[in-house]
Amino acid sequence: MASGSCACRYIRYTTTTPPADPVYCHCVECRKQSGAPYQTWLDFPRDAIKWSAEPTVWRSSDTASRSFCPRCGSTMTMTLDNDPSTTAVAGGTLDVESEHLVSRPGKHIFYKEKAAWYDAPDDGSRVFKGWNE
Ligand SMILES: [Zn+2]
Ligand SMILES: [Zn+2]
Repeated sequence: MASGSCACRYIRYTTTTPPADPVYCHCVECRKQSGAPYQTWLDFPRDAIKWSAEPTVWRSSDTASRSFCPRCGSTMTMTLDNDPSTTAVAGGTLDVESEHLVSRPGKHIFYKEKAAWYDAPDDGSRVFKGWNE
């Protein structure tokens, strides 16, 4: 279905379902981890993703874990403790051939934590101060 990789291609993945529920997260952790004004996440059922190599997992808060490529450092995933059967995959890791699978518009979330120097474009996405309000 969809495929993607880290920047160095050491970690590749394929999925058996299309990406769902694209969100653009402006929280400070996502900004720090991505090095960008926000991080895009695409949801997949955990069991729908097949990895060529395991990303390195680290504990990013008391509610979530994140992962990255141990060779190039690319951000790969985030998993919330309260939804362990869903894996959020960093949208930028999708292969170009799979980009058409992403449905739009998405949601801008944790906008209350956004970078002062960045404003989300008026792209039809909904804007939430936190998760969903
Ligand atoms: Zn890599
Ligand atoms: Zn975030």
